[in-house]
Amino acid sequence: MSLDLRNCPNCGRLFAKKPGVDLCPVCLDIEEEDFQKVKSFLWDYPNSTIEVVHEKTGVSRERIIKFIRDDRLIAEGLTLDYTIECERCGTLIPSGRFCKKCQDELVKGLSPDKDRSQQVSNKRDEKSRMHLYDRIHKRGE
Ligand SMILES: [Zn+2]
Ligand SMILES: [Zn+2]
Repeated sequence: MSLDLRNCPNCGRLFAKKPGVDLCPVCLDIEEEDFQKVKSFLWDYPNSTIEVVHEKTGVSRERIIKFIRDDRLIAEGLTLDYTIECERCGTLIPSGRFCKKCQDELVKGLSPDKDRSQQVSNKRDEKSRMHLYDRIHKRGE
């Protein structure tokens, strides 16, 4: 299996890309530290604005938004006083990438017979699609 070499979008360093990981190991470590900072701040001050989180943790607004997009904060039960736009139609949403309507439409494109558990640990885009799938299920219950 050949290495999938990429330039890190953050620092430009060449690195061997792994499924589900966009950044080089150095930037990934920093991002992880940032996530822990945001996480512990939000534990103490839930529903803070991005501005406050940015000021108190030093983590960039862009990165905080990325954590929201990736559903990482909501997965920890953490919320911010912030809404983002659905990447597809622009509707305001609290977390993730797509609004409910677009999720529904996107999920229709999923093939139902794939092995879910295997997919989750696989490619990033597949993972985010499975996130959609999971959310639809939770809301449907
Ligand atoms: Zn990097
Ligand atoms: Zn939408």
